[in-house]
Amino acid sequence: MGTGEEIYYAKTIDEIFTELKTGHSGLSQEEAEKRLETYGKNSIEKGPEFSIFKIIVHQFMDPLIYVLIIAAVITTLLGDLLDTAIILAVVFINAIIGVFQEFKAEKAISALKSLAAPKASVVRDNIVEEIDSENIVPGDIVLLASGTKVPADMRLFEVIRLEADESALTGESEPVRKSTAPIADKNAPAGEIINSAFMGTIVLSGRGKGVVIATGLKTQLGQISYQVASVKPAEAPIKARLERMSQKIGLAIVGVSVIAIIIGMLSGKSFAEMLLTGIALAVSAIPEGLPIVVTITMAIGVNRMAERNAIIRKLPAVETLGSTTVIASDKTGTMTKNEMTVVKIFSGGRFYDVKGTGFSPDGEIVPENAAAGGVENAALEMCLRAGLLSNESRLEFDEEQEMYKPRGDPTEVSLIVSAMKFGLREGVELIDYTCVDEIPFESERMYMASLFRNKNVDYNIAFIKGAPDRIIKMCDSALNPDGRQAPLDMKKLEDINDEMARGGLRILAMAYKRFPEKVIDIEPHMIEEGAVFLGMQGMYDPPREEVYTAIEQAKSSGIRVIMVTGDHKVTAVSIAKKLNIAEEGKAEAFTGQELESISDEDLYSKLDKVSVYSRVSPIHKLRIVQQLIKKGEIVAVTGDGVNDTPALKAAHIGIAMGRSGTDAAKESAEMVITDDNFASIFSAVKEGRVVFSNIRKVILFLLSSGLGEVILILSTLVMRLPLPLIPGQIIWMNLVTNGIQDVAMAFEPAEKGIEYQKPRPQKEPIISRLMMERLIVIGIVLGLGTLAAFVWQLNSGASIDKARTVALTTMVFYQLFNVFNSRSEMISAFRMDPFSNKFLFFSVVASLIAQVAIIYWEPMQFIFRTTALELNDWLVIIPVAFTVIIVVEIEKALRQYLSPR
Ligand code: ADP
Ligand code: MG
Repeated sequence: MGTGEEIYYAKTIDEIFTELKTGHSGLSQEEAEKRLETYGKNSIEKGPEFSIFKIIVHQFMDPLIYVLIIAAVITTLLGDLLDTAIILAVVFINAIIGVFQEFKAEKAISALKSLAAPKASVVRDNIVEEIDSENIVPGDIVLLASGTKVPADMRLFEVIRLEADESALTGESEPVRKSTAPIADKNAPAGEIINSAFMGTIVLSGRGKGVVIATGLKTQLGQISYQVASVKPAEAPIKARLERMSQKIGLAIVGVSVIAIIIGMLSGKSFAEMLLTGIALAVSAIPEGLPIVVTITMAIGVNRMAERNAIIRKLPAVETLGSTTVIASDKTGTMTKNEMTVVKIFSGGRFYDVKGTGFSPDGEIVPENAAAGGVENAALEMCLRAGLLSNESRLEFDEEQEMYKPRGDPTEVSLIVSAMKFGLREGVELIDYTCVDEIPFESERMYMASLFRNKNVDYNIAFIKGAPDRIIKMCDSALNPDGRQAPLDMKKLEDINDEMARGGLRILAMAYKRFPEKVIDIEPHMIEEGAVFLGMQGMYDPPREEVYTAIEQAKSSGIRVIMVTGDHKVTAVSIAKKLNIAEEGKAEAFTGQELESISDEDLYSKLDKVSVYSRVSPIHKLRIVQQLIKKGEIVAVTGDGVNDTPALKAAHIGIAMGRSGTDAAKESAEMVITDDNFASIFSAVKEGRVVFSNIRKVILFLLSSGLGEVILILSTLVMRLPLPLIPGQIIWMNLVTNGIQDVAMAFEPAEKGIEYQKPRPQKEPIISRLMMERLIVIGIVLGLGTLAAFVWQLNSGASIDKARTVALTTMVFYQLFNVFNSRSEMISAFRMDPFSNKFLFFSVVASLIAQVAIIYWEPMQFIFRTTALELNDWLVIIPVAFTVIIVVEIEKALRQYLSPR
């Protein structure tokens, strides 16, 4: 690795800083922009994502087009050049509509890709900023934390227990422990360059800082990227199913066409005429618009979800979302606001109330019981100091908005705020205390510890904070208000913890442990016993208002909501009750510890009763998801840490948190929620249902029109009548008037009450029984009604061209009316707002205009052999076509009557 003498990993960090003209405070913004010009974007993707040319070519790679082209060849051979022209024109129009549709779909999808673009934390102008990873340049200082996907190749100069999964690069799945010292071996293989981190690898735990030495194609990953097969986005299963369905219908239609040709020839029609009719029949019945309309419907759904803060990363998820039966969600920050405020403190045997709201450090700390003593309490001061110093987050004052903003984890920021209310200041503390080592917070460990050197004393001190149940067990004494150590009453502390938690408070305990001055490294086993207990701080985190309704709606739509949290059982149950997740008496709560002691079988049998899981680690979460899936549930689960990835992957819908989530979590998730809000998850589920029901509406519309045409043509053949429509007219109807409307149907908004329906079983066929029945009813009405209009014309002595014009117009109007039928499975067409889908409304108007043009405009009359209609023709056509609305209305009313909801 490296090039010649330029082996960066053998150099000291200072040499690298000098070479790259950078330093601890990072590049200046200006310099970074300049370098971006020189080195280019930090990306290894090649070429544009899609090209117009490809889309155009794609339009002609369709079996339907082959059929039409064969038809064109036949008409040419027969000397029927007018028909040839019509067919070619239709092929052309179809291609234009197709390009437009596909372009729109592709654009929507690529816009979403950029929404989900990866970000990185870099230091520039001595300030930590979030930037798009593709704007990283050599010389940038990048911060790494557990779950980060390393955005570029970098030489590390600060590591705290940093471990990376480099399997993406080396194939080696053992985590690599990182360090900072130069490596002498100039031929070290990638896996041994432990003082560097490489693009595309994932930080498993710990933290670190590095200076970027290579970006984009210059990185290790970039250099081998041509070997890595590009991952194609998975096709939605529904699309594949529909394609198969279209093929089956196509095959059936070919059979019907052959029969029609034979019948027609037996009744004396020419082979040429019948062949074209057969082809027209095929064109009319094959739902050629379907696959693309499905893509559009999904793309629209994905867009609507994005507007509601849910970014879909894998398209098939749109379909699955609608069938979700269980949402297993985090509590902190997802169901609650994550606006942590310490309101109660227990320290040195006394309770304190903390005044003030939010993150502003204004407010007092007052003893709950003034008689027991004031705030002159050595234990309280140390407790607050531990919270302030064993802390990775910051409180920032936003000058513009004139308010305090949390930077980092709100749990930690609330501890900074409470310490400030007491009068402690980080700046002042850091004059005496210097951090020398740290054990960062991890969900499994449930605590964090920081080792400090205090220059005024001859010992080092570790400040520890974490879940009280963990911390209490580490301690063998407690600090008294007078600064002396006293024996620890574990039982009493646990009771106090429970009592504080019952009000829904999230509680963190603080402790410290002294070490000799020479100890500058701490390992978990060193602090897990012999610590001194300092106190507990209880913070309130109000539930998000919108979550109340979201949970209620989720329930009434047959979706179960389960809370899975790392927090204490009592706190979790208290919030769960407020949010109506756990009902009094009925629901049980489970802790991680209880999960440890039961088998998967036991867990399986308890699943229905338990709605709250507390103190769970990511491994428990995975078990819960697996058992739910075994039960046949369609599971959506939230996650944020790198350890959550197995559960996210196992679930049908993995949901990563956009704000608190790590890159690793986002990458294994199907969906990312940008506002970390439970309500957004539920909105996405609702949109998923809309997508599926719109796809069904399109299917019903397209298939019933096709069936109507087939019935019409076959019955005229049987009745030995002339053909009611010429091939050009059939093609016109299917590709032009229908082609506008089916796309418009993809834009249908959510039907009222969609949230009260039960989740659709995954195995349910796309065409339900109701749809099948309705399809047949509509097909018969369309077919026979048009036949009647045609026969009426012939009997009243009209020319064949006139009779066909009437038949065509009747059929087109049938379809116009049928659009309104198809908008809802159960709701009357008259109760739907005609303007709620403007696109649909205008598409109906557009097809109307097109149809009027074909009837009255001479050039089109010539091409399609139509004649002008008179008023009394219209007076028959419109009422006849309107029957389709009447029939379906009666059918809907009947269904309501037979099985009222
Ligand atoms: P959750 O956020 O759902 O409560 P976590 O796994 O993040 O789950 O946290 C588990 C527990 O660890 C919390 O209940 C709290 O007691 C403790 N904890 C959370 N954040 C920190 C932190 N930054 N430092 C120390 N302890 C923490
Ligand atoms: Mg958390």
